[in-house]
Amino acid sequence: MSWRYRCESCNEVSGWMGRVDAERTRDAHQAARHPGMKPAGEHLESNAERMDPRLWLYVLAGCAALGILRWIINL
Ligand SMILES: [Zn+2]
Repeated sequence: MSWRYRCESCNEVSGWMGRVDAERTRDAHQAARHPGMKPAGEHLESNAERMDPRLWLYVLAGCAALGILRWIINL
């Protein structure tokens, strides 16, 4: 899993990296751009949150197709 840092106050997004590196990027950004305060709208994002929601549709459709197939075979 990869992480990146986003600061919406400055419209800045880092590249994808490890969690520790993303936290270091956040700390460095805060120290450089927002000394002594925590900017609004900043967060660490993981690429796990970006999973395609259509995947669930495919899984559901697959289960439904299997159910129909079993129903047909049992007739
Ligand atoms: Zn910022």
